[in-house]
Amino acid sequence: MYDILIIGGGPAGLTAALYAARAGKRCAVLERAVPGGQIVNSPLVENYPGLPHLSGMDFAARLQEQAEQQGAELLYEDALRAEVRADGSFLVSTDAGSHSARALILATGVAHRSLGLPGEEALIGSGISYCALCDGAFFAGRDVAVVGGGNTALQDALFLSNLCNQVTMLVRRDRFRGQQALVEQVLSRPNISVRFGRTVAELWEQNGALRGLTLNVAGSPEHESLPVDGLFLAVGQVPVGEVFSMLAETDEAGYFRAGEDCTTRTPGVFVAGDCRGKAVRQLTTAVADGATAAAAATQWLER
Ligand code: NAP
Repeated sequence: MYDILIIGGGPAGLTAALYAARAGKRCAVLERAVPGGQIVNSPLVENYPGLPHLSGMDFAARLQEQAEQQGAELLYEDALRAEVRADGSFLVSTDAGSHSARALILATGVAHRSLGLPGEEALIGSGISYCALCDGAFFAGRDVAVVGGGNTALQDALFLSNLCNQVTMLVRRDRFRGQQALVEQVLSRPNISVRFGRTVAELWEQNGALRGLTLNVAGSPEHESLPVDGLFLAVGQVPVGEVFSMLAETDEAGYFRAGEDCTTRTPGVFVAGDCRGKAVRQLTTAVADGATAAAAATQWLER
């Protein structure tokens, strides 16, 4: 029986584990893929207070090590469902078995949003990618497009411009959504061009690989053609963790409803990180949630 079981090993979940372990609680993190969550896709984080230049991958590795050194366990398992037992403890079933805990922290994070275009799924790994850091090198010297106008798209375009011949950013509105510092860097790169008011209408496929795009132009019946070998999608995220919605209520978009104290309607269940409904989703707010949720779970156990 764990004191605290944390579902999700991103920055929020690993921070919760660090705090729970330091509070003397027996805790484990269930992670179905790679510890670190979305931040591992950020080549450079420049807005984490006190650490001006940070690779997302390094941050995740160091946080994992720190949590484990304090006594947290990391279990590479996919949490499939959770139920409340008659005594108020929890049983979490995973793809590898089941675990019992007196308190749960849901830190399930978010997943990439897709465009929903015909043929999109089949081209993932054959021209379409959600991760510039992981897949950018496959497109060295070639022309690529990045869809999105947020911080992820801006970071992806900057990273790809160091490897690719030409990077075209496709932004559906007439302006970016991301930070001004990143916008200025993008606009100063000679091999990045930005097309505002553009969405992808069609994917061109040849022999199983992406060859280009047909674009819609806002306010115009005309279409544009854009031959590219790579398409990086950075169009935001959708919450993960629907399977736990019987424990924690979700809002219309699927994010867990919980206030800054990270508590939910189920005693002993807390939520942390990007899966929680909130206004600002940043590394800083994720780790803050992890600390808050662990402190709240610790207090709840001690009461
Ligand atoms: P985001 O901020 O939600 O931006 C998504 C972008 O995709 C927006 O430009 C949006 O357009 C566009 N979009 C959405 N659906 C689309 C569609 N179907 N077709 C075309 N465009 C579409 O997502 P994000 O950039 O992944 O960032 C997520 C969160 O992580 C944000 O809070 C962000 O600040 C944070 N983040 C921070 C950093 C950092 O601080 N260094 C780095 C990465 C991410 P509209 O603007 O028209 O909605």
